[in-house]
Amino acid sequence: MTDEHACPYCQLEEAGRDPIGGWVHRDEHWLVGQGPAETTMPGAMKITSRRHFVDFAEMTPDESASFGTLLTRLDAALRATTDAERVHLVSTRDRVQHFHAWLYPRAASHALRGTAFLDAPQHGDPADAARAAVAVRDHLATSGRTAPNS
Ligand SMILES: [Zn+2]
Repeated sequence: MTDEHACPYCQLEEAGRDPIGGWVHRDEHWLVGQGPAETTMPGAMKITSRRHFVDFAEMTPDESASFGTLLTRLDAALRATTDAERVHLVSTRDRVQHFHAWLYPRAASHALRGTAFLDAPQHGDPADAARAAVAVRDHLATSGRTAPNS
């Protein structure tokens, strides 16, 4: 297990670490933000646990229940605010060993599917990435069961 004091994902909320466009969602268990424009497409969202753990098996009952609800809400928000036909979920935790998962919206018009889509290089315009973050945050706020970004 990673030393929590050296874990970069345990320090995401420190000054200057906000994702592009600001946090899309924050609650007692999860932080959600748009990925960097240099390496992800607009609408690519990273869900990071607030608590330091690595694997799904280590989730508390509250964390696992709220993760499912969060996925449902983010899937709806991404499908409403991007041209996503499908939202892909990826979580390897091989590089940074602190629980995180990515959601990648895949447009119907995209030439690739499945792992070929996920393997393709991604990037986006920073302004488009920030707009995607705002749109998803606004959708969560108006569809909300919980207040985002509180
Ligand atoms: Zn950590």
